Amino acid sequence: NSYSLPAKQNVPSNLNDKIRVCVRKRPLSKKELTRNEKDIATVSGQRTVLINEPKMKVDLTKYVEQHTFFFDDVFDAEATNEEVYKRTALPLVEYIFRGGKATCFAYGQTGSGKTYTMLDDKQGLYVLAARDIFALLQRPEYSHLASYIGFYEIYQGQLYDLLNQRKKLFAREDGKKNVVIAGLQEYSIDNVDNLMQVFDYGNTVRSTGSTGANEDSSRSHAILQIVLKHKKNRKKFHGKLSFIDLAGSERGADRGDADKQTRMEGAEINKSLLALKECIRALDQDKRHTPFRQSKLTQVLKDSFVGNSRTCMIATISPNISNSEHTLNTLRYADRVK
Ligand code: ADP
Ligand code: MG
Repeated sequence: NSYSLPAKQNVPSNLNDKIRVCVRKRPLSKKELTRNEKDIATVSGQRTVLINEPKMKVDLTKYVEQHTFFFDDVFDAEATNEEVYKRTALPLVEYIFRGGKATCFAYGQTGSGKTYTMLDDKQGLYVLAARDIFALLQRPEYSHLASYIGFYEIYQGQLYDLLNQRKKLFAREDGKKNVVIAGLQEYSIDNVDNLMQVFDYGNTVRSTGSTGANEDSSRSHAILQIVLKHKKNRKKFHGKLSFIDLAGSERGADRGDADKQTRMEGAEINKSLLALKECIRALDQDKRHTPFRQSKLTQVLKDSFVGNSRTCMIATISPNISNSEHTLNTLRYADRVK
C-alpha cells in the first residue's frame, strides 16, 4: 500500500518533554554576504540540520563532507523570536505556574545568536515569556502570586549581581533543597516596561564589567531568573524560570591563548559547559550520580535539574563557511546532551 508513517524526523517532538534540545540557525550577516561567504547549514523538515563541510584531500582535491543531525526542533534563519518562543519557552512558562522549575539555555559560538535569542532587550525570549507571565498573574486563580526578577552572571566560577553593582554573591541550599543565591537583588515587577528598564541597567553592568576592557559578555554566563512567589509570604516559593545566555562555546576550547588570564577563563568555561552537558544527560537517564559540584553553573542550577524540572536548550549556529568547525562543535555538543 502507498501509505507509510512519516519518518520520526518529520514529526514534531512533544513540547512537554522534560528535556528538549533545539537548534536555531541565524541568517548570514551583511558582512558575510559582502564577503560572498557560503551558507553551509541547511535546516530541513521539523528536526534535521545538515552541514556541508568543505574539505580537502592530501592531494588538494576539494570535496564536501555532509553531516546530518536530528534534534527535537529546528529553526531556520527566517524564524522570528516569537516562533522560537512558542516552541521553546512558552511550555516552560505554563509549567512554572504549575509549580515547576524550568531552564532555557542558549548555547553556541560567539556571534551565533545567543543573546539575540535569549536576552535581546526588546524581543528576546525573556521579554516574551515575561509578557505572558505578567498576563497570567492578572488572572484570579493566580492573584496570590507575584513575580520577582533577578539578573546575575557567572564569571570565572564567581557569581556577580548585575542588578546590584556587581556585588559578589554566594549560592546555598535551603531546607527544601531549593538553591538560594544569598543577597541576590530581586525586583518585584509586573509589567514589561519596568522589566526592560531593570534589564537594560543590568546589561550595561554586564558589558562594562568590573575590570574594564578585558572583559566582555562572551566570557561569562548571564542568568535572568523569574521567580513566582506567594505575595503574603515571600519565603513561599512557587515556580522558577531561568534564561541563560551561556559564555561563547569557542572560549571553552583549548585555543593555546598566550595570555594566562584568557587561558584560565577558557578552562573555567570548558569545565562548566562539560558539567552542564553531563548534568542534563544524567537527568535524561535518571542517573543516581549527577556531577552538580563540578562547576558553579551547575551548582546554581541544581534545583532546576532535580524533581519537577524542565530544560530546553537552544543551540545557536552561524551558517557561514568560515565558522564551520565551531558550528559542527556546537551541533555535536547539542547532540550529546540528549
Ligand atoms: P552571541 O550572543 O551568540 O554572541 P548575538 O546574539 O550577539 O550572538 O548575534 C550576533 C549578531 O547576529 C547580532 O548582530 C544579532 O543581531 C545577529 N543575529 C543573531 N541571530 C539572529 C537572527 N536569528 N536573526 C537576525 N539576526 C540575528
Ligand atoms: Mg552574546
